[in-house]
Amino acid sequence: MREFAIDTAMTTSKKAVSSTPGIRVGPSTIHGLGAFATRDMPAGTFLGFYEGRRYNAEQIAAKTWDDQLTYLFTLSDGMTIDGGKGGNATRHLNHCCDPNCEAVEEYDDAGRLLLRFQTLVAVEAGDELFIDYSLTADDGSAPSDYPCHCGSPNCRGSMLAPPEEPLQ
Ligand SMILES: [Zn+2]
Repeated sequence: MREFAIDTAMTTSKKAVSSTPGIRVGPSTIHGLGAFATRDMPAGTFLGFYEGRRYNAEQIAAKTWDDQLTYLFTLSDGMTIDGGKGGNATRHLNHCCDPNCEAVEEYDDAGRLLLRFQTLVAVEAGDELFIDYSLTADDGSAPSDYPCHCGSPNCRGSMLAPPEEPLQ
């Protein structure tokens, strides 16, 4: 379900895409294209900001999204970034239930919310980079609608966020 067209941004894009020197894009070990470390990096290394066209909640609701579009990242302020439009290599990080990278929100000087990708643990050159998507399905989709095949010992079997702990 995460099918990617070959990334032609390098040759056809007229807009400058910010460089992400820590990331190389190539065939994933799990699915489609993936992101790989170009060098050894300690935990907490900055990889890049998630970029792309921004939409507010109303614009997102009014738009019909192709199910194949999985480059959408919704921020805590309700804005959604479509990394499929003007995004950089950070959009190629696949999901893993035991990720080696994370996405962290931070504000820029203008007060705009950004999504920073960074390593969660030390990685070696050539390692595939993953984050935990923890998707939320507001349409009542079952976890099995978003199956995960990451193969980690802690695999939840789904890319959806784990269910909330029931209140005692
Ligand atoms: Zn998994």
